[in-house]
Amino acid sequence: MGAADRHETAGPVQTERIAAELAQGLRPGDVVLISGDLGTGKTTFVRGACRALGITAAVTSPTFTIARRYEDGRLPVSHLDLYRLSGALDEDPALLDDEIGPGRVTFVEWPEAHGDPLGGARIVARVLMEHRGADLRAVTIERVRCR
Ligand code: ADP
Ligand code: MG
Repeated sequence: MGAADRHETAGPVQTERIAAELAQGLRPGDVVLISGDLGTGKTTFVRGACRALGITAAVTSPTFTIARRYEDGRLPVSHLDLYRLSGALDEDPALLDDEIGPGRVTFVEWPEAHGDPLGGARIVARVLMEHRGADLRAVTIERVRCR
């Protein structure tokens, strides 16, 4: 575990900017976990990170697919939402094998929604989003020191 950075944001644009800063340091194989209640801005955070990685495609929740993949940026990215996936993961624990690995960056919403499907993943940061009233959010970024 590493140090935690605490931010306050007053709107989605500011949240995207915080995410963009984190994204600057990402390398292929890195996994970023984003926790927080519904509507705190997890997907918004991923969108900001993707923009910083040069992805121009729409970034929305992976509703009907295992993962959304964005291949038009500086690095290939997978975007997972384990809350929606937990049932499918029960049936096939290997479901995420292609979405996490040395060739891509992976963002995971609701990482705690399901056991430990991320064993072996190189988690480099854990982000916690919290409601602070109206459009205010607290964003805590804990960088995980690896190796
Ligand atoms: P989640 O993925 O956590 O459910 P989303 O990113 O899909 O959240 O949605 C967050 C919603 O809250 C969006 O409608 C966004 O515009 C709004 N919002 C308001 N203030 C903020 C903020 N400070 N940061 C992020 N999103 C915000
Ligand atoms: Mg979401």
